[in-house]
Amino acid sequence: MIIVMNNGATEEQIDTVVAKIRSFDLDANVSRGTERTVIGAIGDERKLSPEIFDTLSGVEYSMHIVKQYKIVSREWHKDNSIINVGGVPIGGDQVQVIGGPCSVETQEQMDSAAQHVADAGCQLMRGGAFKPRTSPYTFQGNGEEGLKMFRRAADKHNLRIVTELMDARMLDTFLEYDVDVIQIGTRSMQNFELLKEVGRINKPVILKRGMSATVSEWLMAAEYIAAGGNHNIIFCERGIRTFETAYRNVMDVTCIPVLKKETHLPVIVDPSHAGGKAWMVSALARAAVAAGADGLLVEMHPNPCEAWCDADQALNPEEFRDLMGSLKGIAAVIGRSL
Ligand code: PEP
Ligand code: MN
Repeated sequence: MIIVMNNGATEEQIDTVVAKIRSFDLDANVSRGTERTVIGAIGDERKLSPEIFDTLSGVEYSMHIVKQYKIVSREWHKDNSIINVGGVPIGGDQVQVIGGPCSVETQEQMDSAAQHVADAGCQLMRGGAFKPRTSPYTFQGNGEEGLKMFRRAADKHNLRIVTELMDARMLDTFLEYDVDVIQIGTRSMQNFELLKEVGRINKPVILKRGMSATVSEWLMAAEYIAAGGNHNIIFCERGIRTFETAYRNVMDVTCIPVLKKETHLPVIVDPSHAGGKAWMVSALARAAVAAGADGLLVEMHPNPCEAWCDADQALNPEEFRDLMGSLKGIAAVIGRSL
């Protein structure tokens, strides 16, 4: 961190800044120019923040010189990290598609969905047992019963399961059902206590981007999980809010190369919640894979018209199978497989 002093800052003001830096067990380097004195803090500057210094008299401004995230950054770990989800790699050469319904509805629906997901060639399945709904009066998910149905359906086809955790109090239940990947939804991206809880275990976590979160806030949210010891983190872009109203969210393709540069962790994309309409999903999915996404999270329902949640954006099994076919070609062009 560097602290730039005002033109004419007094020796006493400079000494106060130096003492403040030392009070955090860091060293200070004072560099006197012809017009300005600049003070550098030497050591782990992540303990410091600009507001510590900006209120001191004589300080013009202060700024970090290293990134605030560390464990998740590519500076810290140069090679791509591959997350092992029960033997299925995410972040390697193979693009992984996670398919399944928005929510777990019935055993019959899950059995049928699992069959279609497996038939399409996927190794991972999605489905929410706990649903974050805008209205408290709509279907909230089947809860623990839903986890049971999901596990039963997925086990028949050896599929790994991905499901959202909204409340840390359910974490033990998730572990009991051996949920393979814990999804943190867009609305929970900055629920720091929840992030700390999933940081304490070693299950892979899909961290969805907050619908209004910057890339840097998203990386910091991942750092919360990593700081607890769990480095099995997968970023998931699911569309952000903008002024546009013609679709549910804007799928931020730009964030894919940006994240790939900033972090060694895998990046997947959810084209379903981005577009919000089934007819957009394939185009968005192809764009995401072409841009370098390590995987996709796609909503597929055995009978979309009857889906209890997000019916508009679910692909039917045939559309899902066709999408898988077209993605193979895109993956091959960029030297990956599906
Ligand atoms: C979901 O994937 O089911 C979901 C609720 O997504 P998001 O958190 O991105 O809205
Ligand atoms: Mn959904």
